Amino acid sequence: MKKISRRSFLAAAGLSVAALALTACGGSSASTASSVASSAASSEAASTSAAAGELTTVEAGKLTMATNATFPPYEMTTDAGEFEGIDIEAAQAIADKLGLELQIDDMDFDAALLSVQQGKADIVMAGVTVTDERKAVMDFSDSYATGIQSVIVPEGSDIASPDDLAGKKIGTQRGTTGYIYCTDDFGEDAVVAYDSGLTAVQALNNGQVDAVVIDNAPAKEYVAANPGLKVLETSYAEEDYAIGMAKSSPLEDAINSALEELKADGTLQAIVDKYITAE
Ligand code: GLN
Repeated sequence: MKKISRRSFLAAAGLSVAALALTACGGSSASTASSVASSAASSEAASTSAAAGELTTVEAGKLTMATNATFPPYEMTTDAGEFEGIDIEAAQAIADKLGLELQIDDMDFDAALLSVQQGKADIVMAGVTVTDERKAVMDFSDSYATGIQSVIVPEGSDIASPDDLAGKKIGTQRGTTGYIYCTDDFGEDAVVAYDSGLTAVQALNNGQVDAVVIDNAPAKEYVAANPGLKVLETSYAEEDYAIGMAKSSPLEDAINSALEELKADGTLQAIVDKYITAE
């Protein structure tokens, strides 16, 4: 269990939703919200340091984003099949700033991480946690949000804190930090890797696993949609989300500049506020 103690346990009771929001954001303003949804390359785009002509992307004129749209409220699909969520709108705002058209490629989470490494996508935005292992194979932008690994259990479960996961069957999404931490801490035999967070939660509902370890924001959404499940108050780990790119990506500076502008003018906070309601 030493792995767990090396990471910070957080009493969820003391955490506000704000802790999930931006790691660096000055006075936020909702007044920029309307520009967030705009997909047209606005006049703002002209004000960025990097003009589209100078940027080399996988497909000319496009910012290709790999994601896994089963991760609410960061990326999901509407009933009409359109992509929405914090990462989707943040990526759109970045694309607007860079004067590029946003192209979204939806795939499994582990495939999305590989996609940038293989030069098939310019960026991966999928609530991706920055880890040393990932930094060895890809580059990351500055962080744009804080994530928390949480534990979902059925109401009445004898699992009351992450320590109680010892000896239990744990469901996770393949390739995620939840999977990595749980296999490190409890052994591979204890952990089942599912294609998505959704299928992991379905397995919990069916009694195939005793708990699911997943990021806190989707955990709350899944629990809200599945009566009889709850999120443990004690969290498992705290993490930073960032935009993943290929090693030495030519886009890194432009993406970080765009991100900085979106943090500074409150756009990013407005996007977060649209999807995560303060408690
Ligand atoms: N934050 C977790 C990770 O990066 C999970 C992300 C996800 O499932 N989309 O591994």
